[in-house]
Amino acid sequence: MSTTEHADSLIDKFGRKVDYIRLSVTDRCDFRCVYCMTEDMTFLPRTQILSLEELYRVAKVFTELGVKKIRLTGGEPMVRTDVMTLIERLGALPGLEELLLTTNGAQLDKYAVALKSAGVSRINISIDSLDAERFKRISRVGKLEKVLSGIDACIEAGIKRIRLNSVIMRGYNEDEVLALTEYALDKGIDIAFIEEMPLGETSDHNRKDTTCSNDWVRNVIEEKYDLNDSAESTAGPSRYVRVAGHESRVGFISPVTHNFCEDCNRVRVTVEGRLLLCLGNEHSVDLRDILRDESKDDSDLKKALIDSMDLKPERHYFFDDDHAQPVRLMNMTGG
Ligand code: SAM
Ligand code: SF4
Repeated sequence: MSTTEHADSLIDKFGRKVDYIRLSVTDRCDFRCVYCMTEDMTFLPRTQILSLEELYRVAKVFTELGVKKIRLTGGEPMVRTDVMTLIERLGALPGLEELLLTTNGAQLDKYAVALKSAGVSRINISIDSLDAERFKRISRVGKLEKVLSGIDACIEAGIKRIRLNSVIMRGYNEDEVLALTEYALDKGIDIAFIEEMPLGETSDHNRKDTTCSNDWVRNVIEEKYDLNDSAESTAGPSRYVRVAGHESRVGFISPVTHNFCEDCNRVRVTVEGRLLLCLGNEHSVDLRDILRDESKDDSDLKKALIDSMDLKPERHYFFDDDHAQPVRLMNMTGG
């Protein structure tokens, strides 16, 4: 690799190239999922969060440094006022190959068509139960039927790849692994199981009691279906398997039991403009200071991003008493 190439792209000190960002557009949400938030949340005041213009500027500079893929997340991205204007502008960014969204799905019946037209090619929709009462218990306020109609709206709108995200927790929904899988198979969409991560303190349970390993989840599915390991990668943390006789893929995101740090290609930007180099560590750079300093321009922002690569830790250590655990909740992290 030439020195010039190195100077203009995001490569960390372990040789990992960063070409994927997760951009949080809000810390707010219309749900209060038990693993993600406490019941009484205080959200950030408006002055502390990046404006839509500032979010766009961050995304643009990242793409100029070789980022090909941006996932919008939060909090719940679709509750941010005028978020569609940002999404439309991002969809037209030169150099960006994929614009993705992670959402709780509650507003997709309204936005699916507009998202498709804006260039969103993949949508991840979180759903942890197919039972309305239980869904409400886990999300504390969510309505299952809104999410189900949002999923159908995405299928009808022709979104290229739709994936369900399910966090399986002992004592909440561990008996729904097969039902959730079969729902995805039936709809011809993908599903990924995510191990609950110890990000911040939860108010309703102790995570050490609830976290379910994906090895266990996989065994449950294999009691009924043949799973074929797949070499497919989406350049994300999921390891996918194919279900014999079906279109759908089943993904396992196992940050707790199978560390996926070796080929990590991503960083996160919180809605306060904090660049987080690792999901499970606190190493960060304040981009908001640079964005709001009139004496600084995009070249300063680029330099900060390139320099930040030296801070990217080699790996995270979840549930390890010898290493500090993140105090950020997931809505502040950008899932
Ligand atoms: N509100 C959107 C949603 O729920 O999809 C986007 C943000 S949410 C923080 C992104 C993903 O993180 C969701 O799939 C959610 O299930 C997952 N998540 C939140 N807290 C988590 C935790 N502590 N461990 C594992 N996954 C978590
Ligand atoms: Fe909201 Fe998503 Fe967190 Fe649930 S997981 S509280 S939907 S941000």
